[in-house]
Amino acid sequence: MREVQKLAGATHLECTATGEIEESERLVGLSQAGKPLFARYDLKALEGRFTLESLAGRRADLWRYEEVLPVRQREAQVALGEGWTPLLDATRTAERFGVRRVWVKDEGQNPTGSFKARGLSLAVSRALELGATELALPSAGNAGSAAAAYGAAAGLNVHVVVPTDTPAPILEEIRALGADLQLLDGLITDCGVVVRKGVEEKGWFDLSTLKEPYRVEGKKTMGYELVEQLGGRLPDAIVYPTGGGTGLIGMWKAFDEMEHLGWIGSDRPKMYSVQATGCAPIVRAWEADAGHATKWEGAETYASGLKVPAAIGDYLMLDVLRASGGAAVAVQDHEMARWVQYLGADLGVFAAPEGGATAAAVPVLIERGMISPEDEVVLFNTGSGLKYVGMLPTQ
Ligand SMILES: *Cc1c(COP(=O)(O)O)cnc(C)c1O
Repeated sequence: MREVQKLAGATHLECTATGEIEESERLVGLSQAGKPLFARYDLKALEGRFTLESLAGRRADLWRYEEVLPVRQREAQVALGEGWTPLLDATRTAERFGVRRVWVKDEGQNPTGSFKARGLSLAVSRALELGATELALPSAGNAGSAAAAYGAAAGLNVHVVVPTDTPAPILEEIRALGADLQLLDGLITDCGVVVRKGVEEKGWFDLSTLKEPYRVEGKKTMGYELVEQLGGRLPDAIVYPTGGGTGLIGMWKAFDEMEHLGWIGSDRPKMYSVQATGCAPIVRAWEADAGHATKWEGAETYASGLKVPAAIGDYLMLDVLRASGGAAVAVQDHEMARWVQYLGADLGVFAAPEGGATAAAVPVLIERGMISPEDEVVLFNTGSGLKYVGMLPTQ
């Protein structure tokens, strides 16, 4: 039986750049300094009570971690079955790479076919709880359909602005989910400008990546699940396809929280960020040893989730890569497509190109001595290949 008396939620919000504290019980976007905010919890109070053992028999979605989530009222938890995705033992892929063990976390099984469901479930739940009525976001596709789905489930209006070259299945999905969809001949950053206008003129609440504090709280549950599914430990390396970076940043935050809860020690996996050669601002910043990334001009890749020329959380991603002893690498679209084929044949999973990208990065990381044959590696397949049907580049 679950024995959560009440949901404490977060104690406060903290600016990721200045450390300045903000109150968490009103609708808020960025910090006073214009930077992303992190939700903080009273983890001390949970120690010994919220344990790995206490999770046994809980609901099979991300709300199994509700003690470390910001939503206070259960009625406000907008749920469609997000999270608790399978961690698949990819023995044939491991043989292909020549490494000890490979797991694939299959995020394609989330509602709306991508891990964006995790973040938007939390962000929409919290927006509902704090009284927002009109939600909006720019998207390369998957965040838009996830926002549309959770908005519909919550009974809130959602405005989605996407580039015209967004995969057609995703456009159809967003329309079917009842959102107000605007197409723009440009990139996700241009779509952001339209959303900001709606925020200023019409009072929309902005759900853009890291521009409100709770999408990252949903994404961090991937870190909790990894530890739970691996029986209380972490792998040697995590390979993650990086756009706006919430997944990478969120998992790192989860590891920190779990250490404070006494679930894990201070060892961390090496975190590897994968981008497309046609849009690799984080890789370029990483190679230049820079603290921030500059905007990528002329972004081009069929992995729409990676078509993010500039990210507000760039410094947080670069910090994670550095602190973990990881790196950032870029792979070509045709390599992603090739590894989508291999993952499909090895595993029975039709991966998104972003998932293919993580596999394509492994031989590069092995060649550079960053992954060794002794390593246990987790790849994130962040979405379903079905959402990109018709987008495959000619090879
Ligand atoms: C959004 C997206 C990404 C990038 O995720 P971030 O956590 O924002 O870096 C990767 N893969 C897919 C399928 C996506 O939709």
